[in-house]
Amino acid sequence: MMKIEKNSFNKYVEENVFTTIEEYKLINENEKIMIGVSGGKDSILTLHMIHNYRKKMDLNFNIEAVCIDEGIAGYREEGIKTARKNCEKLDIPLTVYSFKKEWNYSLDEIHNLYKSTCMPCGVYRRYLLNKISDEHECDKIATGHNMDDEIQSFLMTFARNDQNKFPKFGPKLSKIHENMVPRIKPLWRLPEKDVGIWCVVNNIPIHDEECPYSVTSLRSDVKSLLNRLEEKQKGTKNNIFKSFMKTFTLKQEKVKLNSCEICGQPTAKSPCKACEMTKEISELITHQQF
Ligand code: SF4
Ligand code: ZN
Repeated sequence: MMKIEKNSFNKYVEENVFTTIEEYKLINENEKIMIGVSGGKDSILTLHMIHNYRKKMDLNFNIEAVCIDEGIAGYREEGIKTARKNCEKLDIPLTVYSFKKEWNYSLDEIHNLYKSTCMPCGVYRRYLLNKISDEHECDKIATGHNMDDEIQSFLMTFARNDQNKFPKFGPKLSKIHENMVPRIKPLWRLPEKDVGIWCVVNNIPIHDEECPYSVTSLRSDVKSLLNRLEEKQKGTKNNIFKSFMKTFTLKQEKVKLNSCEICGQPTAKSPCKACEMTKEISELITHQQF
């Protein structure tokens, strides 16, 4: 591996992230920011960067963290431990909340009900992140999405012919519903490989295992395709990212959200996907029992 000079590398990463925060006004004084932490490298870097940003810029805003326990045996426990270790070190309060507590079943218990386990996992995780941040009266939810994630999501919308997802791109999603806590992505312009290098050179504890269900996802195929293209032609990812920025003017304010008639959470169509899925799962479980 190329020798990395720690101080200049850290300076580059901080400049990259801090510029995104400032350019897009992701964080303002006196706000309460909830960081979604899984224990993986992206969310751990987000946690450290927001903490460093507050300290170095001498700003006054609150930081909390939440870790969603989907219930993936032999995998998530380590992630929670790592999230806890980092939060304790930075003195950031952490809430752990599980699928089991909310719905009475873990992801392991329902993983074979759908073609991809990532579908129910993603729907439920987004639901809980929003619900908990809203209950904690947070102004924003910061997630660890990096540049590679954004490019993958962008290509996935084409693969699925799902242009409804376009408003979800960009470093900041506006508040378009009274119960919606806006998302911010401070690592939006940072390539994934740099996230990994930062954790290694700074000796930061991270949970570095792959989720056992990730092989079933479209994202994992798109990710390997992009890595292969990048290996063959350096700069490909950056070029896709640039094209993406040139192609889209992100008009989020035009998107209207309704309230779910069951849970009250923001949704394009009522009932929301989480409630619809919960109903479907409870019918399947009842069916299995007889
Ligand atoms: Fe959930 Fe899929 Fe991510 Fe695993 S890979 S944590 S199942 S979204
Ligand atoms: Zn609902």
